[in-house]
Amino acid sequence: MARISDIEKAATLLRAGRLVAFPTETVYGLGADAEDPDAVARIFRAKGRPPSHPLIVHIGGAENLGDWVEDVPATARLLAERFWPGPLTLVLRRGRRVSLAATGGLETVAVRVPDHPVALALLAAFGGGVAAPSANRFGSVSPTTASHVRAELGDAVDFVLDGGSCGVGVESTIVDATGDVPTILRPGGVTREDLEAALGRPLAVPSASRVRVPGQHPSHYAPRARVVLVEPEKVVAEAELAQELGHRVGVFLPPSFADAEVKAHAAVEVPGSMAEYARGLYGFLRELDRQGCDLIVASLPAQEGLGLAIANRLHRAAGPRPSA
Ligand code: AMP
Ligand code: MG
Repeated sequence: MARISDIEKAATLLRAGRLVAFPTETVYGLGADAEDPDAVARIFRAKGRPPSHPLIVHIGGAENLGDWVEDVPATARLLAERFWPGPLTLVLRRGRRVSLAATGGLETVAVRVPDHPVALALLAAFGGGVAAPSANRFGSVSPTTASHVRAELGDAVDFVLDGGSCGVGVESTIVDATGDVPTILRPGGVTREDLEAALGRPLAVPSASRVRVPGQHPSHYAPRARVVLVEPEKVVAEAELAQELGHRVGVFLPPSFADAEVKAHAAVEVPGSMAEYARGLYGFLRELDRQGCDLIVASLPAQEGLGLAIANRLHRAAGPRPSA
């Protein structure tokens, strides 16, 4: 666990334009000073991420939002007050403090207040905004522990703050709040149902397989193993067929799987709830890679609550790979 001296060291490194990986409640972020274009450019180099892909700016509290965006519409204010700190990112018009490097050249900026004591301590010690994508190589599985970050990025990151494993486990929900009608750009840790309850109106949700947010590719969150998605009742047959064809197969099942016979085929523990599923998702994918699987057969959870975010990530993990 990070100590106070670690937080101070991390804040000093951020001030010097260096990269610090830090825990949030969603996944680990790879952070740099959001106002320093050279520092932000380092993030893109470390990840191998194309510079047109915007980053999320992390700030210490909702009361600071006005410092980072051009204006705060009433809907954005309501959502910030209701869900921050928490896994909700608001896309708003860019304030001048945010470097264009961090927004991928866009005139909008994505902002959130993370709900993690280490992240909040870092933001308080640093005092500014921290631009941070997930701390993994571009396109691969997001890290949910400090050791995942070290394994992914090695020396490309100057310092890793350890805050244990992430409680939510999937990225934040991104909401475009620039206009009168907010829209979900990416499902995540705050559910659509909770957003709708707060807003008092229904929200459009992107289809799980469509790319809506700039900088999102069909293949993302991808383990080394190829991922195929099949109907629940076909998981076992598909896995057995692939095994006969010589594949090393990992079977990955959603919590609704009570069937003991099917469960016996699972390569990793079947999660007991959707929250547990989200928390474990990226670790499971990494574990299947570690077991040497070359094919993961998975079935989508029901697309409600956290299931929407999980289905979105699995769809993208199964998306066509750049080399394919
Ligand atoms: P990650 O790299 O996984 O941390 O995700 C950051 C996400 O925020 C990416 O999907 C970006 O495309 C999205 N994002 C950041 N800034 C903006 C913006 N101004 N408008 C829309 N999406 C954004
Ligand atoms: Mg990412």
